[in-house]
Amino acid sequence: MTELLSLKDRVAIVTGGAQGIGYAIVEMLAQCGASIMIADVMTDKAEATAKEVADKTGQKVLARSVNVTESASAKAMVDAAVEQFGKVDILVNNAGITRDNLIMRLSEEDWDAVLDINLKGAFNCSQAVVRPMMKQRYGRIVNISSVSGVVGQAGQTNYSSSKAGLLGFTKALAKEVGSRNITVNAVAPGFIETRLTVNLPKEIKDISMKLTPMGRFGTPKDIAYAVAFLASEEASFITGATLQVDGGMAMT
Ligand code: NAD
Repeated sequence: MTELLSLKDRVAIVTGGAQGIGYAIVEMLAQCGASIMIADVMTDKAEATAKEVADKTGQKVLARSVNVTESASAKAMVDAAVEQFGKVDILVNNAGITRDNLIMRLSEEDWDAVLDINLKGAFNCSQAVVRPMMKQRYGRIVNISSVSGVVGQAGQTNYSSSKAGLLGFTKALAKEVGSRNITVNAVAPGFIETRLTVNLPKEIKDISMKLTPMGRFGTPKDIAYAVAFLASEEASFITGATLQVDGGMAMT
């Protein structure tokens, strides 16, 4: 019988993998057999996560201090992964932040910070990883967008722009690298319970719940399943797609 969703002998880089959705992605990819490099600004947390997941799964999981906004940091990350593991097959652009405010109150600094990490960060890491992927004629890039990028969210002009930008980036890059057997897809999570959302006001949570036909918030694991699928051999004819993992929120 064929083993579905095996990532055996695959090597993955997961940005922002120290906690939250990234943690669940790291754990899921490792459970499927991949070796992982966690690339995060929170070095201590990334190291603790790497140890925990390695202990649980028996896979090789390394942590590296990376700031995705810096192109040199992204390049060094890919060089280090190639040196440690011999190759990189999968890149998950998951690192992201929110700095919510209504446009009248949104500072230029908060606009720039969100676009820099969420959108330019994905550009920096993808650019660094595409060369080795092209050479080996194999690659899977998965960008973590958001329901906010699909439908727009008041109070999130910066975040919604960055996440909608990621969807355009996904399609454009998919067209550039498809002939080299590299797929590029996006996952657009709905409301997922993590540290990013835990402190949101109750009114916002209530509205989000009402807008979610499945009647519950998502878990990091819900997102990790989708990422593991798009990162697998089995998803080889899917590219430029956005998989909405949002309990139906974006269709409301
Ligand atoms: P989180 O804050 O728990 O985790 C984000 C991770 O990114 C952290 O480990 C952080 O250290 C890392 N990071 C931040 N800036 C970085 C940088 N410059 N370089 C490297 N790493 C950096 O958030 P989360 O909820 O797990 O979100 C993960 C992704 O999912 C984000 O892209 C977010 O926009 C997206 N998302 C989350 C939700 C949700 O409801 N939680 C919904 C839709 C999309």
